[in-house]
Amino acid sequence: MTGEMKKGRFGKFGGQYVPEIVMPVLNELEQAYEKYSRDEEFLAELRKYYMEYAGRPTLLYYAEQLTKHYGKGKIYLKREDLLHTGAHKINNALGQVLLAKRMGKKRVIAETGAGQHGVATATVAALFGMECRVFMGTVDIERQKLNVFKMKLLGAEVVPVTTGTATLKDATSEAIRYWAAHIEDTHYIIGSAVGPHPYPTMVRDFQSVIGREIRQQIKTETGGRLDYLLACVGGGSNAIGTFYEFKDDANVRKFGVEAAGRGPAIGDNAQTLSSPASRPGVLHGAYSYLAQDEDGQVIEVYSISAGLDYPGVGPEHSMFHEQGIVKYVGINDQEALEAFQLLSRLEGIIPAVESSHALAYLAKLMPQTNEDEVVVVTLSGRGDKDVQQVVKALGEEI
Ligand SMILES: *Cc1c(COP(=O)(O)O)cnc(C)c1O
Repeated sequence: MTGEMKKGRFGKFGGQYVPEIVMPVLNELEQAYEKYSRDEEFLAELRKYYMEYAGRPTLLYYAEQLTKHYGKGKIYLKREDLLHTGAHKINNALGQVLLAKRMGKKRVIAETGAGQHGVATATVAALFGMECRVFMGTVDIERQKLNVFKMKLLGAEVVPVTTGTATLKDATSEAIRYWAAHIEDTHYIIGSAVGPHPYPTMVRDFQSVIGREIRQQIKTETGGRLDYLLACVGGGSNAIGTFYEFKDDANVRKFGVEAAGRGPAIGDNAQTLSSPASRPGVLHGAYSYLAQDEDGQVIEVYSISAGLDYPGVGPEHSMFHEQGIVKYVGINDQEALEAFQLLSRLEGIIPAVESSHALAYLAKLMPQTNEDEVVVVTLSGRGDKDVQQVVKALGEEI
C-alpha cells in the first residue's frame, strides 16, 4: 500500500484508536480542519502570524566553517532555532490555536514532558486570549521548573499529574480524559505529528512550511541543487515538516535521526524506527512503530534529549520507513554532545540537544558524499535550554 489509501491512514499506519467518547470531537476537528485547510482567509491569517509573530521565513544559512571542517560539499542549516520561543513547535501551535478559535473553543489544553510544547501552547493561548491548561507529570514539574514558571507567566494553569510514573505518558492520558469531559469548549493541541487522525496530517501540514521554504531558498543558493536532508526525530514533526515537500524527490536522500541514547539495549535509547527491536503497535490513538518489549508492552525509552525521548513515532514516518523514502538512523548521547559543542565553536550557534542529533549525523554522512553535494540540516531549536544539562553531562561545574 502507498499513500493515504484510506482517510487518516498512511499505508497501514495511523488511524483512530481512541475511546468511543472521543470520537465525536475527533470528527468535529476533522471536519473543521478539512474546511479551514482550504480556506484562503484562514491560510492568510496563519501566514501573517508566521511572518509577523513567529519570524518566518527562517534563514537558510550556509555554514561555511562547518563545511570547511568536513572538507567538502556545502552544508546549510535551516534555522528553526531563530523562531519565537526557540523552536519549530510554534508553527504547529499557531496553526492549531487559529483552528480552535475558528471552531469557537475558549480553552486549549496540552500535555508536556520537558515543557517545550507546554510553553509553545501557553504562548499562543496568551496571544489569542484563550484559557490554557497544561497537563504535566509531577516528576517532570520538578525537573523542568523554569518551563513551569514560564507557562505560569504566560497565564497558563499547569495541572500536576500524579498517576503512574507521573511523566509524559500519564500527562497525555490525563489530558485526553479532561478533553473528553470538556469537548464543547476545549481544543487539545498535540505537540508532534502523532496521535489519532487528523492530528498527524494536521501537524505535518503546519510544519511543512519548513520544507517549502527550503525548496525556495535552495533555488537562490545553489540553483536548486539539493542532495541530502537531515532532521532529528522524536515524535517526528520537524522531520516530517522538512521531508514532506521532498517526498517524491528520490534524488534528495532523506535521513531521520533518532536518539541512540547510551546504547542498543532495550530501554537505553529512543530508536523507534532504526532499532531492529521495534515493531508496530498502537500508542496514543494511532498504529505506528513503537519501542516495546516481547509482550508488546510499551517500554520507557531514554535519551539525553527530552524532546527525543518518546517511545512512538508519527505514523507517516512508519510508512516512509517501510517504503524506504526516508532512512532512519541513530546517534548516541556522546555523538550529540560532540556536535553540540562543534557547532557552538565553529559557527557561534548553540543548537538544541535534539537538533544536535541531526548535526552529529554529518560526521557519518560527509565522508561518503561527493565533493559538490549539498546538505541541509534542520536546526529544530536553540540550545539555551540545554546549556546547564550539557555542562553537567561534560562533568563541569556551573
Ligand atoms: C520537541 C522538539 C523536538 C522533537 O519533536 P519532533 O516532533 O520530533 O520534531 C526536536 N527538536 C526540538 C528543538 C524540540 O523542541
